[in-house]
Amino acid sequence: MRSVTLLPPTEPIADDDAAIAAAVEAGVVGALLPAVAHATGDLSVLRDELRPDPDAVFDPAAGLTPDQEAEARSLAAEALRSWRDRGCPAPPPPTPAELDRLLGFVVGEANVGGYGPLLREELALEGDLRAPTWTKDQIAPDAELSVAVVGAGMSGILAAHRLRQAGVPVTVYEKNDDVGGTWFENRYPGCRVDVANHLYSYSFAQTTWPELFSSQEVLLDYFRRCADVFGVRQAIAFGTEVLGAAWDDVAGAWSLTVRGPDGVERTEVAQVLVSAVGQLNRPSYPDIEGRDDFAGVAFHSARWPEDLDLTGKRVVVIGTGASAMQLIPPVADAAAHTTVLQRTPAWLIPSPDYLDEVPDGMRWLLAHVPGYGQWYRLWLFWRTHEGLLTTAAVDPDWPGGERSVSASNDLVRELLTDYLATELEGHPELLDAVTPRYPPIAKRVIRDNGIWARTLTRDDVDLVTTPIERIEATGVRMADGVLHEADVVIYGTGFAASSFLTPMHLTGRDGVDLHERWGGDARAYLGVAVPEFPNLFLLYGPNTNIVINGSIIYFSELEVRYLLEAIRLLLGGGHRSLEVRPEVHDAFNEAVDEANRAMAWGHSQVNSWYKNDQGRVAQNWPFSLLEYWERTRVVDPEDYELR
Ligand code: NAP
Repeated sequence: MRSVTLLPPTEPIADDDAAIAAAVEAGVVGALLPAVAHATGDLSVLRDELRPDPDAVFDPAAGLTPDQEAEARSLAAEALRSWRDRGCPAPPPPTPAELDRLLGFVVGEANVGGYGPLLREELALEGDLRAPTWTKDQIAPDAELSVAVVGAGMSGILAAHRLRQAGVPVTVYEKNDDVGGTWFENRYPGCRVDVANHLYSYSFAQTTWPELFSSQEVLLDYFRRCADVFGVRQAIAFGTEVLGAAWDDVAGAWSLTVRGPDGVERTEVAQVLVSAVGQLNRPSYPDIEGRDDFAGVAFHSARWPEDLDLTGKRVVVIGTGASAMQLIPPVADAAAHTTVLQRTPAWLIPSPDYLDEVPDGMRWLLAHVPGYGQWYRLWLFWRTHEGLLTTAAVDPDWPGGERSVSASNDLVRELLTDYLATELEGHPELLDAVTPRYPPIAKRVIRDNGIWARTLTRDDVDLVTTPIERIEATGVRMADGVLHEADVVIYGTGFAASSFLTPMHLTGRDGVDLHERWGGDARAYLGVAVPEFPNLFLLYGPNTNIVINGSIIYFSELEVRYLLEAIRLLLGGGHRSLEVRPEVHDAFNEAVDEANRAMAWGHSQVNSWYKNDQGRVAQNWPFSLLEYWERTRVVDPEDYELR
């Protein structure tokens, strides 16, 4: 299956040697050499001694010395010059052995081992390798099977696309008036993706990005274009909310109650139900006394009022999570005074290029070296995957307490502490206030290019760490009696992440209620399947979130492939329903819980949206990315009751 083209075709090189030399300076060696080798067919540039070190996760040069980097760039420039002089001919596709060599260069090892097929899928240069290789017409043309997908965000668009590729009838119900989900709803100033967007994008649908971590408008535009190019828009019922769904065992189908744009409720039927509602889509307002008493303007970060003008206003922001830390700098720029109410500080990861445009040299490489974007994406994937995860793993013999969970985690702590100290030099009180007392990676680590310290040290910004007592008509009263007067209160207080699938009301086999069954502690097999809920599939369900490594789109692509495999199983066997066996589900969850307890986010006492009210980590996947790939690649019929 071909990949989707949102990219303009690459142009042959017509530039002089100096332009080539300048461009390769912007290339990272781990992507540059395989991309150049692949584009030109000259694999001699893949020198063993210039292979990056996968373990050097915090070193931008990936273990290469400046001399090695210079040599690598010079090799790349030479190969590109020679290729230009030959008229930029497309070489024959690499043989399997050559492809392994190219991949091995990215991962820093001669042998890519079990990662080979996964890496080829992520690279997607041979096409869209995760697309279904079958159609319903080939397997069971007469079978009655349609799919209802709830939500047209990143996962819902993808599910609809894959189902249509397989010729399976699908309807997507989207409560908003457009696609995009979180990127449609979060419009606060400063909102941008914190995973490099060459990676935070579908593997098979690459595009041109203006920035390295693009802003909300750009991400929304990407998902809109994907919906158009995939041709899924006509399958989406916009302005339509799914209120609930009940499994009808006699009919072997889900009966959905939906409310359309006219406000009228109606019933829809589908044999398979897919939830693509995300984890972070229902704003969480804090349970603070007097919240309704405030006389000014108050709103949640995900409900930013259109045309809000903060000029001359006194603003109080509650929260210092990922959303708040993005919106506070532009708010401070606009407002007369900003008070930041911090309960728990976040660790900051230095990211000097976080707010940068794609550099000119990199633009040149993307424009002239076929496949550069894909190799760069693979490089990002590899750089952010399992290596980082190991720094969050608890060493049971490490006496770190709430300081750190292992020697490598402690090293990360020192790096991040040094960064804060440098950023807030001369501000000891602020430094003390923003230095976390919990291990790194126990909560989401926030990217920073220095803007946080610049903002907190402004004369018109105050950081307050006293607990909040109550909200009054004129502002927020703290436990020490101080009132912070405000015209505007912004709730950067996160989302009801643990309340999976709320407020939908779902009943499964024999009328069992999903939320009663979960009792506030949502669980699923592989994050996807729930016992007693036949033909229900969750995307970005329980325990499929990642904290430090990878991109959530990777998980969605694998979950959707699993969904398609399950439908293939149903159709191929002439079955009406498939339901995960309780013992399979329970054993999986026990293993997940045990592994999460051995990660910083489960081990530390610090509060976070990763834990539900019962203290269980209900969000995060504690294992490797490879393990999720292996476990979702095929559906094991033994895991399911097929009827
Ligand atoms: P969040 O991480 O849950 O942060 C909520 C903030 O509100 C925390 O600082 C929390 O303090 C504070 N808070 C909550 N209730 C409070 C109360 N009663 N009193 C005082 N403070 C209170 O939510 P978020 O910032 O919206 O981020 C959620 C997730 O969305 C992120 O972790 C990330 O995965 C995703 N996200 C990503 C991006 C991006 O890609 N750039 C941007 C935004 C969000 P405590 O820490 O003490 O609980």
